Amino acid sequence: MRAFDYTRAEDAKGASAAAAAASAARFIAGGTNLLDLMKLQIETPRTVVDISRLPLRAIEETDEGGLRIGALVTNSDLAADERVRRDYPVLSRALLAGASGQLRNKATTGGNLLQRTRCGYFYDTSTACNKREPGSGCDAMGGFNRILAVLGTSDKCIATHPSDMAVAMRALDAVVETMKADGSTRELTLDALYRLPGDTPQIETALEPGELITALRLPAPLGGTQVYRKVRDRASYAFALVSVAAVVTMDAGRMNTVRLAFGGLGTMPWRDRAVEEVLEGQMPSAELFARAADVLLAEAKGHGENDFKIPLARRTLAAVLHEAVRGETR
Ligand SMILES: Cc1cc2nc3c(=O)[nH]c(=O)nc-3n(C[C@H](O)[C@H](O)[C@H](O)COP(=O)(O)OP(=O)(O)OC[C@H]3O[C@@H](n4cnc5c(N)ncnc54)[C@H](O)[C@@H]3O)c2cc1C
Ligand code: SF4
Repeated sequence: MRAFDYTRAEDAKGASAAAAAASAARFIAGGTNLLDLMKLQIETPRTVVDISRLPLRAIEETDEGGLRIGALVTNSDLAADERVRRDYPVLSRALLAGASGQLRNKATTGGNLLQRTRCGYFYDTSTACNKREPGSGCDAMGGFNRILAVLGTSDKCIATHPSDMAVAMRALDAVVETMKADGSTRELTLDALYRLPGDTPQIETALEPGELITALRLPAPLGGTQVYRKVRDRASYAFALVSVAAVVTMDAGRMNTVRLAFGGLGTMPWRDRAVEEVLEGQMPSAELFARAADVLLAEAKGHGENDFKIPLARRTLAAVLHEAVRGETR
């Protein structure tokens, strides 16, 4: 690990100001991703700003009937929250499908959103990786890419975003609240937060230097049946090959509201309104679900080892929709 300066922040504005003032700074929250990356010298911050003692651990009800989740709420506490389990079970299930109990006790909401990819080449400094070292190439193309993305890729990078929580948050229309060094705040949908790799895969989000995530906000619950299904190589403690978060409400036998987001497939937690529009207002059927998969996967591109994800995504989507529809009509 390289030497670095360490600062403990007293408040959100101070944290943001300290990080913005340093030339290469990182916030540390639970440290479950950042420390690993620092030990491998993939992340080499000159300043580490410890935000772990900031008062951002509350889960509060909003005036709109939703929830505001502080950026330092741990994944364990969020999954166990009575309101989350009752009103946003897809989120609770996604969190519990991620990592291990010990990791979830440390991992935070903000850190989970900003964890880096699990592409093996990114973690191996002897290989070419445009995300780790811009312009060096991408050894994952035509290499070991079993876990990598088939949607939203570029010829510079095909890394998947690894978070389970962010997939559920996308299906639920979560909004990220941030604070900049001058104390100003802004709100970003997850669509606006994450960037596709394009020619600059090293730039993963729209956050500015020093911009701190302070909270995530969930809108009022949609109800309906909520499903999170994660297909992976081992039953636990493994990242998703394909995951689907679904919220479905029914009206007179037809699918009314449909919210779908996908993990393991895209370079960011994936959502495509066109897929939902195919389903909304329709009577559920295997043919309809296949049509939705066609729309989802129209632009999907495998890179050899990960070709299997395309048919796997079709089957997983169909299974999740069958389960969600059954839950609503039971
Ligand atoms: C063995 C293992 C298995 C795992 N399996 C899964 C899995 O199956 N599914 C899954 O989703 N995750 C999994 N994880 C990842 C784990 O969920 C993340 O490491 C964790 O959520 C990161 O949160 P943290 O608070 O520890 O972040 P940190 O490591 O502290 O930070 C991560 C990044 O976020 C930045 N950051 C943190 N908080 C903020 C903030 N408030 N504002 C701005 N920037 C911030 C940091 O600067 C850093 O760049 C696994 C991790 C390990 C080690
Ligand atoms: S897929 Fe992205 S993260 Fe993986 S080696 Fe290529 S550039 Fe690096």
